[in-house]
Amino acid sequence: MKEVAIAIDLGATNLRVALISKKGKIIQKIKIKTPKEGKSGKVITNKLITLAQKIIQFAKQHNYKIPGIGISSIGPLDYKKGEIVNSPNIPFKKVPIIQPLKRKFKLPVYLFNDCTSAVWGEKHFGKGKKFKNIIYITISSGIGGGAIVDNHLLFGREGNAVEIGHFKIDTKYNLLCGCKKGRGHWEGYCSGNNMPRFFKFWLKSQGLNFSNLNFSIKKIKTSKEIFELARKREKIVLKFLKEVGKLNAAGINNVMVAYDPEIIILGGSIVLYNKEFILPYFKPYFEKYLPLPKIIITPLKEDVVLFGSASLVFWPPD
Ligand SMILES: [Zn+2]
Repeated sequence: MKEVAIAIDLGATNLRVALISKKGKIIQKIKIKTPKEGKSGKVITNKLITLAQKIIQFAKQHNYKIPGIGISSIGPLDYKKGEIVNSPNIPFKKVPIIQPLKRKFKLPVYLFNDCTSAVWGEKHFGKGKKFKNIIYITISSGIGGGAIVDNHLLFGREGNAVEIGHFKIDTKYNLLCGCKKGRGHWEGYCSGNNMPRFFKFWLKSQGLNFSNLNFSIKKIKTSKEIFELARKREKIVLKFLKEVGKLNAAGINNVMVAYDPEIIILGGSIVLYNKEFILPYFKPYFEKYLPLPKIIITPLKEDVVLFGSASLVFWPPD
């Protein structure tokens, strides 16, 4: 009987459930918007149960054996209770996960921070197979990371290790981070959610006359619009992306000296959809205190976190 994992990716925007084989084949996949309305986080728990039930039914009809359920989630997590707690990205104080799913399905249930499981997924399904020291970095609505050091998955006190988006990388602009706990954090400049704010701040710092620009800065609401202007070779935007590249390089320089990786794997929507403005823009600013690791973009693309969830089931980390 073929073994398949129930893999769940619980993001702030989307909730995805998939059936993934040990060889890395996605057999079935369901995607919905993450529920945001209701009295408590149980609306998310209940939705997870309904979707998992659906996919388990499908697996049973096809005679697959299910060794467990892997969930990768936005944080922060309370690992001991198996819950998401006080996440800034969803409107509920807590979302119980492990206990209700175990009770319902009588299967092993694994819950990890999404970037922690993404790096585990790279190790088993992606380009990390040959390496013992691997870093995964996502640049999407936020910035996060996962680390395998000497073949060991770094986990931290409550499963929140490697929150590299909150590395301090700047004192020049000194912007307050979305976490509200500090200034100059990487995520506050280079993430999808924060790039438009940094763009406006940076333009002002250039002392330009805004009426001379070919676009209206008031209209820029998303990082997607910034990259669209870059594709039109808008000079001032390309200059801005150079500054973003410098700050990304500062973040990655910190990652390199903190974890001494053999390979850094990049993912997340900002990286996946704007490749031409990412690697080439930060490469010139790498400091080579240590020999540079290999730096690549994830071959698992948007499914990296789902593969991470499946890898938790097939190869549970210690
Ligand atoms: Zn922060």
